[in-house]
Amino acid sequence: MGAHSHVLIFPLPLQGPINSMLKLAEMLCLRQIKVTFIITQHIQRRLFDSSTIQTYMTTKYGDAFSFQAIPDGLPEEHPRTIREFSELLGSLSAVAPLILHQTVSVWEISCIVAEGILSFATDIATQIGVPLFYFDTCSASALWAIMCLPQLIQAGELPFKDDNLDEIIRNAPGMEGVMRRRDLPSFCRDINLEDLEVKLLLKQARLMPLSQGIILNTFHQLDAPLLSHMLKLFPNIYAIGPLHALLQTQASQNSSSSILPEDMSCISWLDKQPSQSVVYVSIGSLALMTKDQFLEFWFGLVNSGMRFLLVQRPGSVAGLDDGIPVELLEATRERGYVVSWVPQQEVLDHPAVGGFLSHCGWNSILESLVAGKPMICWPHHFDQQVNSRYVGEVWKVGLDMKDSCDRVVVEKMVREVMELRKDEFLKRARKLSEAARGSVGEGGSSAKDLDRFIDDIKNMMFFPKQN
Ligand code: UDP
Repeated sequence: MGAHSHVLIFPLPLQGPINSMLKLAEMLCLRQIKVTFIITQHIQRRLFDSSTIQTYMTTKYGDAFSFQAIPDGLPEEHPRTIREFSELLGSLSAVAPLILHQTVSVWEISCIVAEGILSFATDIATQIGVPLFYFDTCSASALWAIMCLPQLIQAGELPFKDDNLDEIIRNAPGMEGVMRRRDLPSFCRDINLEDLEVKLLLKQARLMPLSQGIILNTFHQLDAPLLSHMLKLFPNIYAIGPLHALLQTQASQNSSSSILPEDMSCISWLDKQPSQSVVYVSIGSLALMTKDQFLEFWFGLVNSGMRFLLVQRPGSVAGLDDGIPVELLEATRERGYVVSWVPQQEVLDHPAVGGFLSHCGWNSILESLVAGKPMICWPHHFDQQVNSRYVGEVWKVGLDMKDSCDRVVVEKMVREVMELRKDEFLKRARKLSEAARGSVGEGGSSAKDLDRFIDDIKNMMFFPKQN
């Protein structure tokens, strides 16, 4: 039965979720489980143009792995930036169920693994009669904040009653004393219960506990206090992170799944820099900045006197075509390097990199934790507000610059992490890196949870086709 298990994986059509779900897909293929990976046509084009993932997966796994592209329902010229995320979510939730239902009902599949917010997967799984696992690719802390939304609303903590963002949150068990209003997912600040995204999140909070199990890209040692609370709601949690590190223990080589072309020249530049001397700066695949914000970052970096590798993703900074101060360009020629996109895992693992100024997307945090690199956090949207609080206040492997974008603060925090408090941050970061590597190594908690997940899939009944 096991050799014929067939899993349908459906990530959100965004870089972070695609990266982590592809890693899960590959680990299933390595254990003789067939995977069909659903992506939107738009993402498929970008993925195939910028990476070799298709050739890599086909060469390595043959027909045990395939991409299945579906329309997202938006016109081709739609910008699909984070500003229009609700439109993408709404459109996908409207078109995907019918297409998927038609496609999937003629296949034999063992189970579906879907991103938490794609709650229409519950209906599809019920209609075709297969088990459903939700994989929430954001952090456990952000997922828990979402699961607590109904009680935060019921207790009157949401919407906020005034504009004091430092008020402590009281109705999120396990997060007492940690979370302030400003640390909740960004949409909570001006929450409108009628917004599509909020409605979908509330639906997610209702449906996730009814699924067969929850997959999380975290590890027990990192999130133990939260996981113990979560287990009361989700009795079946598979904490199998950090997935990129777990895959590295199982596959001799990996392929990039980047949806933007990677500029490898940054590695040659890093090769020439002294050990732990470079701050790596990136705001990920979605976050946007104004020109003023970007210049504050850039000035802060230059004024810190540190070397820096700065990613300026195409389209991420509005109106940056001209007027870059000469002193920035000169200082950058001396000790900086600006690129449009990098192979981030490789960059973070590079010995020249000493710290990461990050927007705190969950994949970026995990990649930094595994590499043992301290962080300076500038959260932009959604789970990043929660993640940066955990980096600064709970794990204490960096500083949280939330809600400020000022060259003086950037300079101060970069100097603190890279120089003044370097040893303290490095010590904790290395300890967490060891814990992360231990969890994916033989007998580690994530390796065991993956084994349990695979056993559970292989033991699932084979569900008959419906005509
Ligand atoms: N990434 C990359 N090159 C870059 C910047 C980011 O390959 O120059 C990758 C990074 O390694 C991570 C993903 O893009 O796996 C970003 O996901 P994350 O969850 O950190 O943030 P998001 O882009 O979803 O906001």
